[in-house]
Amino acid sequence: MTTIASNLQAVRDAIASAAVGADRHAGDINLLAVSKTFAPDALREAYQAGQTCFAESYVQEALDKIAALQDIPIEWHYIGPIQSNKTRAIAENFAWVHSVDRLKIAERLSEQRPAHLPPLQVCLQVNISMEASKSGAVPHEVDALAHAIAKLPNLKLRGLMAVPAPSDEIAAQRLPFAKLRELRDELNRQGLQLDTLSMGMSHDFAAAIAEGATIVRIGTAIFGDRAYHGNLV
Ligand SMILES: *Cc1c(COP(=O)(O)O)cnc(C)c1O
Repeated sequence: MTTIASNLQAVRDAIASAAVGADRHAGDINLLAVSKTFAPDALREAYQAGQTCFAESYVQEALDKIAALQDIPIEWHYIGPIQSNKTRAIAENFAWVHSVDRLKIAERLSEQRPAHLPPLQVCLQVNISMEASKSGAVPHEVDALAHAIAKLPNLKLRGLMAVPAPSDEIAAQRLPFAKLRELRDELNRQGLQLDTLSMGMSHDFAAAIAEGATIVRIGTAIFGDRAYHGNLV
C-alpha cells in the first residue's frame, strides 16, 4: 500500500470510530480530501485508493489540476478565499463551494453558473470564532445572508462551513462546532432545509463529528505536511 492509501485508510477508520463514539452512522460523514499544494499524482493515488471528492483553495492551482486529471471523475470542491474576478472560473469548474461569505459573491456565482451544469452546491462560511483575520460572515449576519443566498436560482445552499481557531483540547474544539450546528438548526427552524455542516480538519475532526459534521475537510492527515504556500489558510 502507498503512504497516501494507508493514510486514507487510517483517516477512514478514525472517522468511523468518532462516528461510533457520537452514536452516528459513519456513512453520514463525507470525507473531503484537501489536496491544495499537492501535485496531480498525489490525487491520482488517493483516487485509486477510493477517494473521489477533492478540495482546493487556490483557483489557478485548482484549474491546472482539473485539466491534468480530466481522465478521472473527481468531484471538485472549492474551499479557499473568493475574489470577485475568480467567480467565473469557480462557477464553471467546481461542483461545490464551501467558502461563500458575502451576497455579492453568491450573486456572481449564480449568474455565472453555466446552464448545462446542475446548481452549484454552496456552504456559507461563518467566522465562528470571531477572529479578525479570518474570512467568513459574522454570526449575526448569517440569517439574512443565508435566506438571500437560498433564493439565488443557480445555487443550492446546502449548509454552513467554519474553520475555528485551533485548540488542542477536544472540549474546547467542540464549542465552536456546536455553535455552528446551532446556527444551522435555527435556519432550518426558519424554513431553510440545510443538510450540511462542513467542519473539522486533520487536528479536530473527531470533535466536529461529535457535534454533527457531515463533511470533514482533511489534508495533512492524508497527504502529509504542506510546503509553505505564501498564504496558507
Ligand atoms: C487547508 C484546509 C483544510 C485542511 O487542513 P488540514 O489541517 O491539512 O487537514 C481544511 N479546510 C480549509 C478551509 C483549508 O484551507
